[in-house]
Amino acid sequence: MATSKVLAGARVVLPTGIVDGGRVSVEGTRIAGSAPEGTEVLDVSGHWLVPGFVDMHNHGGGGAAFSGSADDVLTAVRAHRAHGTTTVVASTVTDDMGVLAKQAGLLSELAEQGDIAGIHFEGPFISPCRKGAHSEALLRDPDPAEVRKLIEAARGRAKMMTLAAELPGGIDSVRLLADHGVIAAIGHTDATYEQTVEAIDAGATVATHLFNAMPVLGHRSPGPIAALLEDERVTVELINDGVHLHQAALELAFHHAGAARVAFITDAMDAAGSGDGRYMLGPLEVEVADGVARLVEGGSIAGSTLTLDRAFKRAVTVDGLPVGDVVAALSANPARLLGLDDRVGSLEPGKDADLVLLDEDFGLRGVMRHGEWVVEPQLG
Ligand SMILES: [Zn+2]
Repeated sequence: MATSKVLAGARVVLPTGIVDGGRVSVEGTRIAGSAPEGTEVLDVSGHWLVPGFVDMHNHGGGGAAFSGSADDVLTAVRAHRAHGTTTVVASTVTDDMGVLAKQAGLLSELAEQGDIAGIHFEGPFISPCRKGAHSEALLRDPDPAEVRKLIEAARGRAKMMTLAAELPGGIDSVRLLADHGVIAAIGHTDATYEQTVEAIDAGATVATHLFNAMPVLGHRSPGPIAALLEDERVTVELINDGVHLHQAALELAFHHAGAARVAFITDAMDAAGSGDGRYMLGPLEVEVADGVARLVEGGSIAGSTLTLDRAFKRAVTVDGLPVGDVVAALSANPARLLGLDDRVGSLEPGKDADLVLLDEDFGLRGVMRHGEWVVEPQLG
């Protein structure tokens, strides 16, 4: 049965700005323009009320991976929901084509049920020079026929594919993805500046974790970073965990791209919301120590243990970014990119009642999804 509630007194972050002492009405699963007389009012003054977070690049959490069973996927979804991520795209890692196609089938069913918002294929069409935590033996050039197989296996639920467009077949694959409404994301790439410009012109619109797994910005060879940062058509993913990026690099990218072209992501693996120890990332073994995940073999950083509530807090308290800009990067921008902005990404009447309650120090104090508390409000 649909229930109504009103959250009153918070600093509410709306697309139009921040409202002090604002009210958000919830009717059933949606945000409402107003509430009927006599609706229960929860006083949340002294807190921030922001839209639920949208994570477009996430491999798992709570000790489980999006490359695992349906139960594993749901465990990871719950782990991130508890940290404010009310919409998550499930990212795969490089594996055998047959395994990926099978996983895409499973994930498409979970997307159908509304548990996840779609699928992001990271690999296998990436550069061996920038493989990061992907199995080199399983990497391959981006053959459009194989790209199409994965899109088809995802049954309309493929949202994004990360690929190295400089490899043979790369540009044709970018075109194919764009034609199918799947985001072509440039990443794990060894491309030059010119090759990256070509990929963007062919339809690539996202930079997969900008700076990580790509050539550095050089003054005579600016590489992919300059091409991705300067082009208005591109949104750049940033992992704001204080490990993947130096604060200065993050701030440089944020200020250059502007708040409308940044998406904060976790790139989380199983240990997010879980703890240190040994984990698997696809077929590779990972050791997590002090919250930093590294491959057992070679020591590459292997995803993060980040949750988006921590990314939020860090962006405001360490990086000094304005709250409204951080909300855009955590909710509105990814929602728009994924084509989900009719339902999520901002606190507006008619949208899903997905919201996060933060205290004045930006600590997580409550999470609501579809009008139900996932994390009961802890006030006071
Ligand atoms: Zn990733």
